[in-house]
Amino acid sequence: MNEYPDFIITTDRSMMSNHHGREFLGFIATGPPLFLPEPIWRFICCPKPKVDRFGRPVEAPYGLRKIEAALLDAGFKVAIVDPDYVDRYLRRVKAVMIGHHDFFAYGPPSSEWWLITGRVPENRRLFTEFMKRLSSHKRRYGFRIIVGGPAAWQWLWEEDKVDRWEVDTVVDGEAEVVVKELAEKVVRGEPLPRYIYVGVDKVPKLSEIPVIKGASVNGLVEVMRGCPRGCSFCSVTLRPLRYLPLDHIEKEIQVNVSHGLRGGVFHSEDVLLYGANGIIPRTEPLLKLHDLATKYLRSLAWAHVSLASLVVAQREGRIVGKLTELIYSKLDQDFIGVEVGIETGSPRLAEKIMPGKSAPFPPSKYPEIVEEAFAIMHEHRIIPAATFILNFPGETPEDVVKTVELLEKLRQYRSIIVPMIFVPMGRLKGEREVIARVKIRREHVDAMSVALEHSLTWAERIMREFYLKGWEQAPVRLLLKYFVRMVRWRVAKVLKSLENFTEKELVIPKL
Ligand code: SF4
Repeated sequence: MNEYPDFIITTDRSMMSNHHGREFLGFIATGPPLFLPEPIWRFICCPKPKVDRFGRPVEAPYGLRKIEAALLDAGFKVAIVDPDYVDRYLRRVKAVMIGHHDFFAYGPPSSEWWLITGRVPENRRLFTEFMKRLSSHKRRYGFRIIVGGPAAWQWLWEEDKVDRWEVDTVVDGEAEVVVKELAEKVVRGEPLPRYIYVGVDKVPKLSEIPVIKGASVNGLVEVMRGCPRGCSFCSVTLRPLRYLPLDHIEKEIQVNVSHGLRGGVFHSEDVLLYGANGIIPRTEPLLKLHDLATKYLRSLAWAHVSLASLVVAQREGRIVGKLTELIYSKLDQDFIGVEVGIETGSPRLAEKIMPGKSAPFPPSKYPEIVEEAFAIMHEHRIIPAATFILNFPGETPEDVVKTVELLEKLRQYRSIIVPMIFVPMGRLKGEREVIARVKIRREHVDAMSVALEHSLTWAERIMREFYLKGWEQAPVRLLLKYFVRMVRWRVAKVLKSLENFTEKELVIPKL
């Protein structure tokens, strides 16, 4: 390191890991250790990353890389440091900046694991351990603590922690612009605001989004920000839509490749809307985007696509077929992983809470669109990790029955399907009590058990035939296989005990 940093950027171990090169393994940190000792649980979900002699990780979470790039471009002395190496910097740094997807485990699916098992999720444990250690040093050395990231809203539910751990500022929203103003104040020794909400007027314009300077975890690069579909429960939709230009994306891929990464993940809330005409995917920008990947990478995944976009893309111009043919012929892979949101199988509820999710098709057709999208993915070896949401405001038992009916139809399609319990975000942002006290009904249990059976059945096949095939993945594969068997055994027992179940309130205690 040429210069001692004034700012270090870090996070806890649940985030600072490449999750064995498989993003989905990172989700295991959202649950408490089950059937396995905690160190083995941690090894599966978040092994320590490679670091240099200064404790700087080779791969770091993309959000942290963006903040690092914004500060470096503005001339600040900054480094991303692995949490195990943070202590050696604390005597001299001016501020520690911490980003996270789920600081207190209130996001989905952490809060759901917490409700169901009654045990504190691993990500919350790791974050709490880290903050206790950091704040004990803060009392001695006096550096500032600034926290932010997609889970910043969770600090409003744990305000006592802001005081207890002496956090100076919470930044809620896209931070590339405001972080520079904060850094200026830190350098000048001025007081910091306790809470900053980054409204539409402060989000970075395309020209203010910097190119990352170091490699991102698993080669993730952002291709687009925002989403035009406007679902009422989603915070992404509150942000303006921006497509990153191809030369910007190419530079970020080059950064990752120059650090030895040969895999990549295109990040967007809907990769198929890159360069779209509104919500209608277009062949040309998508082919150009994927040509970039084939120029530099050996493998590629998509972060998210929407099910309606998949159907439109395939019906009009066979875009899904063209993209997968390109990927499978030019890259070393025979499948592509992606996250998708089903949310509900009820057209009535879809119309109420996410009328744009099925567009250009009407919400009344949503279940058919979901099934058609799953069929397209199955045929093209796109393996979705899908979610649906229970306990939406205004949900009726009949809505959940519709979701169960849809899940039954999806049985034949290769996928993992995970139930989530509604977390109030976006325009439905609300109080902690909404997720900390949840009434579970018979229909919810039915939906969860259909999804679990689906996922356990497909998980073993997917691990064996697609993911985790190589010998180097054998330890993780075997541990997961053991885990899947244990879950199946345990769930069978629990479901037997729930035969006469009607309703129960689940509670997350205030810690
Ligand atoms: S489609 Fe997905 S990302 Fe877009 S607003 Fe709806 S939930 Fe959010």
